[in-house]
Amino acid sequence: MIPQNVIDEIRDRTDIVDVIGGFLDLKRAGRNLKTLCPFHGEKTPSFMVNPERQIYHCFGCGKGGNVFSFLMEYEGVGFVEAVRKLAGPLGIDVDQYLTGTEDKSRLDPYYRAMEFATRYFKEALTADDPATKTANEYLDRRGFPRDIIEQFSIGFAPPSWEGLYREATEKGLSREILLESGLIMRSRGGSGYRDYFRNRVIFPISNLAGRVVGFAGRVLDDSEPKYLNSMENPVYSKGKILYGLDQARDSIRTSKTAIIVEGYIDHLMLFSRGITNVAAVCGTALTEDQARLLARYAKRVYIINDGDRAGIRAAVRAADQLVLQALETYVVVLPENEDPDSYIRKEGVDALGELMRSAPDYFTYLREEAGKGRSTASRRRQVVEHLLATISRVDDAVRREILLQELSGHFELPVETLRTGLTQARPTRRAPEEPPRAARQPGGKRERIQKEMFRLGLAGRDLAGLIVDNIIEEDLEGEEFRLFHRALREAHEAGEDPAGAKFAASISDPALAGLASEIALMDQPPGPPGEVLRDMLLWVKKASLKGEMQAMKERIGQLREQSPGETTAEEIGIAEAYRQCARELGKLEIREDSRLDGS
Ligand SMILES: [Zn+2]
Repeated sequence: MIPQNVIDEIRDRTDIVDVIGGFLDLKRAGRNLKTLCPFHGEKTPSFMVNPERQIYHCFGCGKGGNVFSFLMEYEGVGFVEAVRKLAGPLGIDVDQYLTGTEDKSRLDPYYRAMEFATRYFKEALTADDPATKTANEYLDRRGFPRDIIEQFSIGFAPPSWEGLYREATEKGLSREILLESGLIMRSRGGSGYRDYFRNRVIFPISNLAGRVVGFAGRVLDDSEPKYLNSMENPVYSKGKILYGLDQARDSIRTSKTAIIVEGYIDHLMLFSRGITNVAAVCGTALTEDQARLLARYAKRVYIINDGDRAGIRAAVRAADQLVLQALETYVVVLPENEDPDSYIRKEGVDALGELMRSAPDYFTYLREEAGKGRSTASRRRQVVEHLLATISRVDDAVRREILLQELSGHFELPVETLRTGLTQARPTRRAPEEPPRAARQPGGKRERIQKEMFRLGLAGRDLAGLIVDNIIEEDLEGEEFRLFHRALREAHEAGEDPAGAKFAASISDPALAGLASEIALMDQPPGPPGEVLRDMLLWVKKASLKGEMQAMKERIGQLREQSPGETTAEEIGIAEAYRQCARELGKLEIREDSRLDGS
C-alpha cells in the first residue's frame, strides 16, 4: 500500500489545472476554468475545474472529484496507476511501497507476461537465422521504417513450437498466467503446451497507459488466417481498445480529428507517413466503448476502410456508433479493392489527404449511396429506416432532434414524418450495452438545502463543527449525503480545516466524489454564514423529524388496519417515539424562535 502521507504529498504538489489542462482546453470562467465535459457529449461547457480547491465537477453528468479520480476516469486506470503517473514527474518512487505480495495488483502477472513476450518477440526480430531474415524482408517490403518498428515494438514470433514457453517458464512466469494471457496453448494431444504465435510478424497492442495487453500476429505469406489475435484476457478486451490510440492520442487531441482504419498495417502505413492521429480497430467492428473513447479526444472522425463490400458495411456500423457519440463523422471512400496501405503506395499520402478533404459526412454518404443504381426509392427507404433506428438510440433528446433535422434536410423529408418514424423505431430499440449514465436529477428542496448546508460547512472549521454537532447522518436524505457527512465528521475529528483545499480534494471515493466536487464548487449562500447555517440546520433537523414522524404515522395506520380495536406493543412503542419526536420538534421551534427574536 502506498502510505497516505505519500498520496497526500503527491496530491498537494500536483496542480489539477496542469493535469487536466494537459488533456483538455481549459478556459477561464471566474474562479473556475471550464471546458466541454470529456465524460458525456455536450455542446456548451459544464465541466468546471477549481484551482483553489483542486477539484473538478461536471454539472451536466455529475462526475467530479480530485486529480486522482480524474486520471482514473479519463485514462481508464486504477488508483495506484493514477498515483504512479503523478508521482513520476515529482521524483517520488511509489513502486517501493508496492513490493509486498499482498499489494501486488491482481493484473500485474498478466502485464509482466506481456512485457516478457514483447521483449521476446522483439529480440527474435534481430536473431541471426533464415526465418528472421524472411520476417525482416517482409517488413522492408511493406516499407516500415526502422524507427516505426522500434516505436511500436514490432517483433517476430519464430517458427519454433515452444521457444517462448520454455524461456518464459525458465524466467519463472507461471504456466497458468501464460495460458490465460493467450501466449501459449495446450498442444493437440493435450499433454503438453506450445507457443500460440508461430512464424508471424508481431504487433503488440497497448492500452491507453501504453502497457502491452495483447498481440496481433501476421503471416509472412498468403496463408490463412492472415491475422491471429490474442484472446481476450484479464487485461485485454478487444472492444475497449483501439490499436495505436496511446501513441495517437496527443495529435488527435491537438487536431481534434481522428482517423480510424481497419488494420495494423494500414495504421502503421499512415503513421509512418506522418499522419499520426490514426487508430485501428482490432479485428472487430467499432464498438460503443471505442467510439466513446474517441469522443474524449476528437470532435470529428474519418473512417477509412477497404473499398470492398465488407469494408463498406463495417464503415457504416462504425459511423453509427460515432454519430451516437455526437462526433462529426466522415466516410472516406477508397477506389474499389484498395485499402489505405495499397492506396498510399500507388497514389501517395497527399492523394489520401485530398480524398479526406472531399469526404462526405456520414448522412451525405448514405444519401449518395442510396441514390445509386436501381430501385432507388426502396434503397432510400432502407437508409432512412436505418438512420432512424440509429437516432432512436441517442439518449439525449436535444441531440436526437438535431440529428432528425439533419436527416430531414439530407433526404428532403418533413421532420414531422421522421419524428413519427422515430417513435415507431424507439420501442424496438436495442437495449443499450450499459444503462445510460444517469445525470443527477435536480433534487427537491431538501436536497438543495442539504447541499447549501454542506457548502457552508466547507467554509471553515467552526461551521463544519456546527454541522457535526447538530446533525447526525440519519437526519439526511440520500446515501451520498450521509457519506459526505461521515467524511466531514471524520475530517473534523482529525482536526482538519475543511476550508483548506485538502478536504474536498481528498475525496477519491467514486460514490462521493461527484457530490463533493459539486458542493465545493457551489457559491456560498448569501448572508452571515453562521446564522444562515443555523437556519439550515434547523430546517434539516425538522425535515428529518417530520419525515420520521410521517413514517411512524403510516406504520400506526397499518397496524390499526391489521388488528382493529387492539393496541399492540409495537404501536405503543411507536406512539412513544412519536411523542419524543414531537417534543424535540417543539424544542427546535423554540430554539429557532428565540434565535429569531435575537436573544
Ligand atoms: Zn459531464
